[in-house]
Amino acid sequence: MLTVETSRTWLSLFIEKLEKNENYLNTLDAPIGDGDHGTNMVRGARELRSKLAQEPPADLPELFVTAGWSFIQKTGGTAGLLYGQAFLHMARAFQESADLLRGLAGGLEGIQKVGHAELKEKTLVDVWIPVMEDIRNQRLSLERINEHVISTKDFQAKKGRAAYVSEQLNGHIDPGAASCGYFFEAMLEAGV
Ligand code: ADP
Ligand code: MG
Ligand code: MG
Repeated sequence: MLTVETSRTWLSLFIEKLEKNENYLNTLDAPIGDGDHGTNMVRGARELRSKLAQEPPADLPELFVTAGWSFIQKTGGTAGLLYGQAFLHMARAFQESADLLRGLAGGLEGIQKVGHAELKEKTLVDVWIPVMEDIRNQRLSLERINEHVISTKDFQAKKGRAAYVSEQLNGHIDPGAASCGYFFEAMLEAGV
């Protein structure tokens, strides 16, 4: 069962990883056109950190609602909506039970409700779905997460700005998949 304390550690580690890799994520997003994914994500992450410091969340749903609104309001763009809806849907699932897989299933629903992405369309869904599968099979590791992120190199972009230049992006890691990799690395490191 997830607790609000471990989940706070999870999100704090995610924030740190986004800050540390801001430039790298921007670089991955550059061929797509606007090179802002790292900067977008860090804006939402810092908002989340300051909200958590101001008002510690009472429970798991409250924590993820705060995360959701931070990313929607400050990250902006496509990723802000995607991560924002993911976290808001996770919060809804956690109202029913503090179960990680159910929460992640809710998160995926939120992402797909907004973006309609399926597997192998070069988005964060290419990390989210296989990570859920690995958790089910009790085989999630940092190596597996990294493999899922790298797998996006071979996929043709069908969604977002990347779709307009998809042939030029072969061999290129999707920035959203990379940030999603940090989210799940942080989850493992937090001992969730
Ligand atoms: P923007 O494209 O608005 O500048 P970002 O650069 O912050 O937004 O985020 C781009 C990332 O969003 C992509 O790398 C991809 O992973 C993800 N993405 C874009 N469109 C979709 C979609 N329809 N469904 C899921 N993920 C998507
Ligand atoms: Mg961008
Ligand atoms: Mg942009």
